[in-house]
Amino acid sequence: MYRLTEEQAAVVTRLRNIADQHIAPYAQDVDENSRFPKEAFDALGKEGFLGLTVSQEFGGMGEGIRTAAAVVDEIAQRCASTAMCYIMHLCAISVYSARADVAEKQLREAAEGNHVTTLAWSEKGSRSHFWAPVSQAVANNGHLRISAQKSWVTSAGYADGYVVSTKSPMAQSATDSMLFLVLKEDKGIEVSGSWNALGMRGNASAPMSLDNVELTPDRAFTEEGKGMDMMLGVVLPWFQIGNAATSVGICEAATQATQRHLTTAKFDHLGSTLADLPNLRARLAQMRIETDRARAHLVSVLDAVENPSPATMLMVLEAKAAAGETALSVTDIGMRACGGAAFSKHLPVERCFRDARASVVMAPTADVIHDFIGKALCGIPLF
Ligand SMILES: Cc1cc2nc3c(=O)[nH]c(=O)nc-3n(C[C@H](O)[C@H](O)[C@H](O)COP(=O)(O)OP(=O)(O)OC[C@H]3O[C@@H](n4cnc5c(N)ncnc54)[C@H](O)[C@@H]3O)c2cc1C
Repeated sequence: MYRLTEEQAAVVTRLRNIADQHIAPYAQDVDENSRFPKEAFDALGKEGFLGLTVSQEFGGMGEGIRTAAAVVDEIAQRCASTAMCYIMHLCAISVYSARADVAEKQLREAAEGNHVTTLAWSEKGSRSHFWAPVSQAVANNGHLRISAQKSWVTSAGYADGYVVSTKSPMAQSATDSMLFLVLKEDKGIEVSGSWNALGMRGNASAPMSLDNVELTPDRAFTEEGKGMDMMLGVVLPWFQIGNAATSVGICEAATQATQRHLTTAKFDHLGSTLADLPNLRARLAQMRIETDRARAHLVSVLDAVENPSPATMLMVLEAKAAAGETALSVTDIGMRACGGAAFSKHLPVERCFRDARASVVMAPTADVIHDFIGKALCGIPLF
């Protein structure tokens, strides 16, 4: 479905084998114990997948967004928490790659499997409006000093690097921001809470505080006032498409789990299975159709990104909203089709149902995307 070249398909096949061995077997435990998927990240690092999108010049695989989407879909089919941590890594790598002069060392480390990274953008004060950080960098004798309360940071405490946003020192507006490279060994950063959520329970998306973290100017990914340009111009496509691929993977997992249950759960007294009930077969068919449609839509967005036109940005926005809503619907149908067995946590479809709910509340939230698309269609400025 992703229309991969032979070389891209080989990368995805290799990932699928790794995921079967090192991701799927731990997914239930990761969810039950709300723990970071360490086995998954160890294996992804060892096999070079932390460098999937790192340029070959720095030792990476040099793959683009199409292969990344197919890889994320496969990971999410086995463990959505791992997929979400992985897409935040890919998003931050897109920033590193745009400014290899700032992060060449970290790009090389990622390619070697020794650097996990993420985005630390959302703040208590501006909630899901990540484009408007309330924290502000302070210029200090040629250095920059940052203090911030970051409300949700995926892989918090497990990441080696963080792409952190703040307002510029001389900010003129709410969106006048900068992005910085903060490393786990920098003084003044700490994970300031825990993560215990409905779904994506392995994400470790905990709050973090930055207290007078001193950075040299070469840690700035952007000039003053250019943070939002990089957020929207560089990172947004990776986040939207990665998030959509995660939703599609969740839909696939829910559909397959429902298919397995319907064809194996028996009515002994009737000598039949759940699959003998036409209403349940129709629900399964609906799940299959919606999953295939969501994946096809995602592929059309990938086509648009690879062949840019004035419509591309709208399609990038649509990607996450469409797949996120589909995942809500597909997993809801799966829960109904699988009955009490799903409700009482005996089937993986229940984890899919919970994990699926993250996409629509992750920023840009589904509401905000609908508003952006509506504004764009009506010729109203987005900000
Ligand atoms: C699993 C998970 C992982 C995350 N990982 C990260 C991460 O790695 N880095 C990071 O920076 N953040 C991360 N986040 C944070 C995320 O991106 C959002 O910032 C967060 O979910 C917002 O929650 P909130 O309660 O503050 O939302 P609020 O802003 O309070 O939103 C509440 C409701 O209001 C709606 N709403 C808000 N603004 C508007 C508007 N303008 N128009 C219409 N409706 C609106 C929203 O759609 C939502 O329904 C993560 C969140 C989750 C759930």
